[in-house]
Amino acid sequence: MSGCSNSRAVRLFDAHCHLQDRRIAAVCPQLIRASIDSGVLRFAVNGVSEKDWHLVKQMGEQYPCVVPNFGLHPWYVTERTANWFNMLREFLTATPTAAVGEIGLDKGSHGRNIEFSQQVEVFRQQLELAKELQRPASVHCVRAFGELLEILQNVGPFPAGLILHSYLGSAEMVPGFAKLGAYFSFSGYLTSMKSTKAKNMLKLVPKDRILVESDAPDGLPNSTESLLVVPLDDSSPQGLQSQHADPLCEASVSPKEELNHPANIHTISEQLPRIYQASSPMVTTRRNPDQEWVFLFVSPTYM
Ligand SMILES: [Zn+2]
Repeated sequence: MSGCSNSRAVRLFDAHCHLQDRRIAAVCPQLIRASIDSGVLRFAVNGVSEKDWHLVKQMGEQYPCVVPNFGLHPWYVTERTANWFNMLREFLTATPTAAVGEIGLDKGSHGRNIEFSQQVEVFRQQLELAKELQRPASVHCVRAFGELLEILQNVGPFPAGLILHSYLGSAEMVPGFAKLGAYFSFSGYLTSMKSTKAKNMLKLVPKDRILVESDAPDGLPNSTESLLVVPLDDSSPQGLQSQHADPLCEASVSPKEELNHPANIHTISEQLPRIYQASSPMVTTRRNPDQEWVFLFVSPTYM
């Protein structure tokens, strides 16, 4: 696990993950402990539907390192109850440190089965709520970046912050989102992108807007380095579907051996500068840890 042991001095904020996911619930305390030991100090844990918001809230209360996020993911918009929006508002107002997420748009292999007009309606409502409550929003987008930009331009600006989670959009889309003040968060899925494409895209992302995330239990990096494996026991549920879209491969089920450990975020933070082909090594650092929940890539000369 060189990815971790080499990085113990690096302190990271996992900008987007799902530690409440049923597939890892049984081992979650172990995952959190191992990740903290490796230098991951905070985890933005994103709920995806009304069914898991209470779990995210509990985690936030149990672990000071967990920043709870509550949101209705586009995959689950058709399952929403009549009271979903009031419930969401209650969870957010009862949890002043919480952000809004995971929310977004999806026209991928799974998302295209969900009426897009409903996705847009639910997404807009949640964006407006994030603005009203002055909370950051963690946004998912698969194959709908044009529509996403239009909606964000319409509803924005977002002074509390906006995260484009697991960003895999094109280089051409970057300036438009950057102009809106968006942060670009990168996960293990970036390692599946063609390296020239990834490099061209990354070059356009302002350096102070780069975040890293594990997206655990999904987003296992495609790495030749040894990665941490999720230790699952036999009681763990099998064959459960990924809670959100795999933006590139769109494989819907992860065999249990392919689940991602949140401490593998170190691999992403090490691979980003390599893809970027930075002339001097970039390192992760954190800024205003108590006010700003972002970790930035900066050149050592600026440290
Ligand atoms: Zn997610």
